[in-house]
Amino acid sequence: MTQVIQLLDAGTTFSFEFFPPKNDAEQATLVRTLRELEPLEPAFVSVTYRGGRVSRQRTHDLVAGMIQTTTLNPMAHLTCVVHSRLELAEILVELRKAGVDNVLALGGDIPPDAQELGHGELTHAIELVDLARAIGGFSIGVAAHPELHPSSGGDRDLDRRHLVAKMELADFAITQFFFRTGDYLGLVDDLAKRGMHKPVIAGIMPITSLSGVRRMAELSGCEVPPEVVARVEAVADDPDDVRRVGVELATELCRDLLDNGVPGLHFYTLNRSTATRDIYANLGLVPSSG
Ligand code: FAD
Repeated sequence: MTQVIQLLDAGTTFSFEFFPPKNDAEQATLVRTLRELEPLEPAFVSVTYRGGRVSRQRTHDLVAGMIQTTTLNPMAHLTCVVHSRLELAEILVELRKAGVDNVLALGGDIPPDAQELGHGELTHAIELVDLARAIGGFSIGVAAHPELHPSSGGDRDLDRRHLVAKMELADFAITQFFFRTGDYLGLVDDLAKRGMHKPVIAGIMPITSLSGVRRMAELSGCEVPPEVVARVEAVADDPDDVRRVGVELATELCRDLLDNGVPGLHFYTLNRSTATRDIYANLGLVPSSG
């Protein structure tokens, strides 16, 4: 059983996100991280996509390599930006040929070199979900933003209507990272009121540095709440303490989400294993063979 939707049907999923390495040093780090996280037996792992020829190859090679050399069950991210419809169809067919059963269909962020790369033919993630469905064989996920998508202009109703429309064609959603259980529950309640009950996996970003998470939060349209900032700032002088508090905060959030029946937790690992392993241990999660 490798389709994410089947795994979600069977119980709570725990999954990890990685980005494809850009050089030998990043490659070595990722290999070590995968070796350390594989024993945790995640339900699936996802590999990000940036857009363009080089990124296309990197993401493909990483997911194909995982299938050939690990026990991991990879999900490839794919974005609308830069590619033509035909190129996106080719990428999806190549993923199926490599044995990839899961795809996360995204609008995508425009890469800085997009001018050189050319414009994409599809505008919104929903069109990519439609294309992946037409190719067939995939369990398809989409992105959800508990605090609204940054380009929504604050129009919650419209943003949620777009999300419901894309989830109707997809199988499940994974959220952008967030720090308050209430933001996640607010999203799920709102979707339920609109008749959408498909699984929404919670995206978890353990804080390892305050400046780093603030930068990412700014790009993602997510607020780092004052109570979180205060706890991290209280230990800001010691990077080890910052990481420890980051793990504590993420553990508390995960516990709360699990108590509230979250269908899955998806850890943004940034290609490192320590925080994820610590949170796993704190939550008492052990692999089935462990
Ligand atoms: P969409 O669903 O297309 O939505 C984008 C905006 O358009 C929203 O404001 C929405 O309300 C609006 N909209 C949607 N449909 C319509 C419509 N029919 N008409 C008018 N407006 C509409 N980015 C990457 O580049 N690579 C990655 O690998 C990557 N992985 C991610 C993984 C997760 C779990 C998440 C949550 C995000 C990820 N992102 C990634 C970021 C994502 O690509 C960006 O947030 C992007 O700006 C929007 O993607 P989306 O899929 O939400 O787009």
